[in-house]
Amino acid sequence: MTVRTRVAPSPTGDPHVGTAYIALFNLAFARQHGGEFLLRIEDTDQARSTKESEQTIYDSLRWLGLEWDEGPDVGGDKGPYRQSERREIYAEYIEKILASGHAFKCYRTAAELDELRAKKQEAGGFSALKYSDLKLDDKVVAERESANAPFVVRMHVPEEGVCTFSDMLRGDIEMDWGMIDCQILMKSDGMPTYHLANVVDDHLMEISHVIRGEEWLSSAPKHQLLYKYFGWDMPVLCHMPLLRNPDKSKLSKRKNPTSILYYQRMGFMPEALLNYLARMGWSMPDEREQFTRAEMFENFDIRRVSLGGPIFDQDKLSWLNSQWLRDLSEDEFMAKFVEWGLQSDSVKPVIKHIQPRVERLTDVVPLAGFLLSGMPDVTEESFAHKSVEKDAMVKQLQMGLWQLEAIRHWEKSEIQARLFALAKTQGVKVKDFLFAYFVAVAGTANSFSVLDSMEMIGPDMSRARVRHAIEVLGGISKKGMKKLDKEYRTVSEEIETQLRA
Ligand code: GLU
Repeated sequence: MTVRTRVAPSPTGDPHVGTAYIALFNLAFARQHGGEFLLRIEDTDQARSTKESEQTIYDSLRWLGLEWDEGPDVGGDKGPYRQSERREIYAEYIEKILASGHAFKCYRTAAELDELRAKKQEAGGFSALKYSDLKLDDKVVAERESANAPFVVRMHVPEEGVCTFSDMLRGDIEMDWGMIDCQILMKSDGMPTYHLANVVDDHLMEISHVIRGEEWLSSAPKHQLLYKYFGWDMPVLCHMPLLRNPDKSKLSKRKNPTSILYYQRMGFMPEALLNYLARMGWSMPDEREQFTRAEMFENFDIRRVSLGGPIFDQDKLSWLNSQWLRDLSEDEFMAKFVEWGLQSDSVKPVIKHIQPRVERLTDVVPLAGFLLSGMPDVTEESFAHKSVEKDAMVKQLQMGLWQLEAIRHWEKSEIQARLFALAKTQGVKVKDFLFAYFVAVAGTANSFSVLDSMEMIGPDMSRARVRHAIEVLGGISKKGMKKLDKEYRTVSEEIETQLRA
């Protein structure tokens, strides 16, 4: 058997370090067994998927030095490798599974489903919806069918009993069928869900080992059942421990930058980031901390993955990065630095902003240096403003951060539209509102356009600096955050209305 592994990211948002982590272990496993590793784009969520995000996945994985043997951009004979191009394939398997009686059309309305769930919850016990809950009289089904009512396709699952499946790292796992609902396989718009598309693709692409994040563990019983219904062998499953924030919670961008692009912009060497990701849950036989990708692959043994939640700690990563940087020769270091920060396509857009402001070339670095630095050196005093109080400022920064997180196409016009709209909802003059952003991003209010600066430093670095400013100003308590979150809901609706107008 040829070992074939895959990583299957959804192109929604920024390329996540978790994707690189999973890709790395899949690639290591495939290479160790002389097998193949492929990249599949899971873009069935058409509303959230974007081409830009897909491109940044390719770019950032390549930047890290990861390569795939098959994928949407490199081809292969088991394609297409983009799920949005495989709709007919899924439709065929939906027909098959309906014909074999392992799935059914469900005409339940949203209101009925809510009621069913509420009833189950009231009754205590498991709340998963089963066929016995969902089934409708034949007459009702016929009526809804002839009225062309919307329906979904759901799979049958056992009403009770225990499901056992195997995981490479955990051995046999048991789950009560009571917890598992009749999973939707096809949505009312005709698009498959993750579960159907993922199983069909893994089978047709001849994936032998599914190495993915622990968050998918609870999907395994449904997947196992789907393989059985289709009469296919199931790949070996291996669920990797989730990356965590230093406080042990699941790594999330609210607490820690999660985008690979942030680490690139922050001046981490790809070799160091990859090395650090390899250390997440895995160690070299001699426990050494610094090693190359080749050294990892030579010594790779998936059984050495430990299940304790690996902590993604920026300080440790920085230490490791320092080791990598110090190992470079002076020439290599210089080349790295130039490649990282002094390429003409990143320097050129800055010129038009600084040229009108300088008297001598020596003014350039003081004016534009912040574009190449990490967090600006600011204190609470740097944010002192004549009319905006500290509390209001923190609030405006946090709401602005949420607005920045909602941007899908990072461009000045979009940043401007959202921040200006937010200022309006807060009844603050744009100039006063932007003051805090100037200080957060450039370290001073005497800089050139903060909107252009944000566009240039990119979404991750911009958000990280705003987050840093909030911390410098004392942060927001848990209670305060809850309150703000509530207030923000109305504000955000208002902004969306303004933006549409
Ligand atoms: N599209 C899923 C994700 O975004 C893939 C999960 C899997 O590997 O099965 O993580």
